[in-house]
Amino acid sequence: MYLRYSYRVYPTVGQRQALSRTFGCARVVYNDALVLRKADRSRIPTGVLAKSVITDAKKTDARSWLGSVSVDALQSSIRDLDTAYRNFFDSKSGKRAGRPVGLPRFKSRKDSRQSLRFSRNGFRIRGNGKLNLARIGDVRVKWSRALPADPSSVTIVLDPSGRYFASFVVDVEPDHLAELDTEIGIDLGLTTYAVCSDGTVIDNPRFLRKAERKLKAAQRALSRKAKGSKNRAKARRKVARAHAKVADTRMDWLHKQTTRLIRETQVIYLEDLNVRGLARTRLAKSVHDAGWSTFRRLLEEKAARYGRDVGVIGRYEPTSQVCSACGVLDGPKPLGIRTWACGACGTSHDRDLNAARNILAAGRADRLNACGGPVGPGVAIPRRARPVETGTHRNAGRTGCKPRAADAAGIPVLQRGEDVNGKGQSCQYLDPSAPL
Ligand SMILES: [Zn+2]
Repeated sequence: MYLRYSYRVYPTVGQRQALSRTFGCARVVYNDALVLRKADRSRIPTGVLAKSVITDAKKTDARSWLGSVSVDALQSSIRDLDTAYRNFFDSKSGKRAGRPVGLPRFKSRKDSRQSLRFSRNGFRIRGNGKLNLARIGDVRVKWSRALPADPSSVTIVLDPSGRYFASFVVDVEPDHLAELDTEIGIDLGLTTYAVCSDGTVIDNPRFLRKAERKLKAAQRALSRKAKGSKNRAKARRKVARAHAKVADTRMDWLHKQTTRLIRETQVIYLEDLNVRGLARTRLAKSVHDAGWSTFRRLLEEKAARYGRDVGVIGRYEPTSQVCSACGVLDGPKPLGIRTWACGACGTSHDRDLNAARNILAAGRADRLNACGGPVGPGVAIPRRARPVETGTHRNAGRTGCKPRAADAAGIPVLQRGEDVNGKGQSCQYLDPSAPL
């Protein structure tokens, strides 16, 4: 399975200039290619596209500066456009699950998040631990943990708060933990973050709510600055930094919670929440702050990696209306009622704990209906990260090619099974402007 490993990188002033030049060129190439594909409804082969917007364009006066940056990054940019179109068509034909994907759009110089990607040909990790990027140089990396395998590509990201990250794609074998016989149902909420059917309660940390005053002050300061001024740019970065802090803290917390749950439980059942629907209500801010979708995604990814299962029960299961002790349907109850006593058997219930128990029961029933035997994986193995790119060099994808990155001096290679340490396992970069 493919995972992303992100690290903070610290380019020098000169390297930052070179990076921003490369961001710009990759964007221009992407937009030029998009113009061509929009004009010609037939699908232009990527090679032809690359020739006209990179190789031929370099020879013209208007695009001669494309020669000053890494061609590998430019080619990756065209492949991104290809992927964007494929996602759009797959989404249209129903081959791709999830919410509908729109047509690719033009990139802008003013986009708050800039990124570019290097394939195998465009980067290498030096023996001294520095990351060499084509036409950029040796960039200092903070190796916060070891890379588990030789990376197949790296994406350099500049986030709105001015930080640079290198996000590596690595192909790792699933690392199944010893099987347990524990099963839980989890009821997600806003008053308490989660209540498990075994009675454990996870409090809602409300990171955004706690930071709201600081954020408001930063935003107010920003709104007072003159448009286009340097002070405005500075104030904008301050707002972005405040948002990034909230998003980072939330992500860290979510990673810790999900890792713990996956380690302790064999099968986890969740309710299929209509997060997008709830986010349109009065509760929007709190719903986004909770990050339920990320919670579920992390659980599913980690379950696939560590040999656990996540089952999701239907959205319309009346989990809060049924008595978990005798099964009587007791009718809907307003949200304000936290505890109630069953009219049939007299058991007194905590609303959330009762729901969690019902989720567990519904999940078990689903499973028995589905196969009657051992648990099948609750979800397909997530393939979030981009698959291996072999690059264009003839020997790039050949087997027997010496791995040149992970075991380089200074970057210890992890042994399998070592990585379950409570830290983020599939540390995907979280865009602070999109809290879910
Ligand atoms: Zn009852």
